[in-house]
Amino acid sequence: MRIHPLTGEFAQRADETAFLVHQLPQTRALLGYTLVFCTLFYLAFSLSDLAALGYGPTYLKLCAARAVVAATAGTCAWLAYHRPLTLHATRIAASGAETVALACFTFIAVQRPDEFHWHAMSLAIMLIVIYLYIPNSFANALVLASAATAVFLVLTLKYGRLTAADGVTMVMLLVLANAFGALAARRFNQVSREEYQARVALQHTAARDHLTGCYNRRYLHETLMRPGQVRTPHHGGLLTVVLCDIDHFKRINDTYGHASGDAVLRSFAELLRHMTRDGVDSVVRYGGEEFLAILPGTDLDGGIHLAERLRTRFADTSVMTDDGKERMRTTASFGVACADPAADGGHHVLRDLIAVADKLMYDAKRGGRDRVHACCACSNPPAGLRRA
Ligand code: GH3
Ligand code: MG
Ligand code: MG
Repeated sequence: MRIHPLTGEFAQRADETAFLVHQLPQTRALLGYTLVFCTLFYLAFSLSDLAALGYGPTYLKLCAARAVVAATAGTCAWLAYHRPLTLHATRIAASGAETVALACFTFIAVQRPDEFHWHAMSLAIMLIVIYLYIPNSFANALVLASAATAVFLVLTLKYGRLTAADGVTMVMLLVLANAFGALAARRFNQVSREEYQARVALQHTAARDHLTGCYNRRYLHETLMRPGQVRTPHHGGLLTVVLCDIDHFKRINDTYGHASGDAVLRSFAELLRHMTRDGVDSVVRYGGEEFLAILPGTDLDGGIHLAERLRTRFADTSVMTDDGKERMRTTASFGVACADPAADGGHHVLRDLIAVADKLMYDAKRGGRDRVHACCACSNPPAGLRRA
């Protein structure tokens, strides 16, 4: 996860999207809150229109412009609060509200040409809000803020009756607001992404086994076994588990040493992860040399197929010893169990399935090792699925 040095956002699109999805509830809340807050001030500033222009047609025009801003920002805030705005929609809402507010602001400024220095100060504050408070991408904020500044300066040249000194001061003030806003936004982006990186690393460490990179027992019990966590969309919603145990693993340790045993464990885990579906199946290091594959939406035949492929591939694989002098070879035994979580009430299915697969795996050991034993643990297994 690399952070871009200019924007403070993640350089890779996938990382940035994952971060933004994680932040979405806070983004919606911040967007809604900031828009309501700014809109109230925007409306309250109509008092300054009244003081500058007195009651009349121009004042009413400015009231209408402020009402347009209130309506747009209010709608966007309401959408942020009450409708689950998507990631893309929060950006559109933020940019839309900002554009309308800036357009109406320049319109109001032109109607009150004697106060361009005050307008410049208001714009500087609006720029800070755009860079720091309204959640938007760095690029969107930069484009909107600098375009608004450029338009405002052109209008100042045309309508503002300023001295040269006032003009130079105004340009400097607005350049400062843009530079400070952009730098602070970049810093803020960077800090929030570094926090996210630390959280992801921590979650990864807490959920994974250090040696093999598979999920650990804690993740199995605290996350995967939670009801509804393992989804089973295909094959009539069947769930299959494969419990694998490396044969005579103690001999490997005793013969070649623990470091070489570790290499065998890593090699087995690598094969298992390679043969299962990323983001769908879960591979857990269940014990020292025992691994569990949880295969949602997979029937018994699918589970047996995976176990057989794994069995033959592992038996054919030789792993180099730690000192690189010899090659080790061993086999593994497998228990495969399948059930329909919905038909069985959905409670403790995974726990019960693992117990069945464990028993089958020990049957395979007793049967001579290097083999697959399987059975369907459904209350009414479809014909042909009850096997051992
Ligand atoms: P079986 O065929 O019946 O499964 O025999 P086995 O030798 O594989 O099983 P046993 O339960 O007797 O031995 C498992 C061994 O795995 C014992 C333990 O020292 C070793 N072990 C457990 N965790 C690790 C580890 O992280 N690294 C290494 N190198 N060995 C481990
Ligand atoms: Mg064992
Ligand atoms: Mg073993």
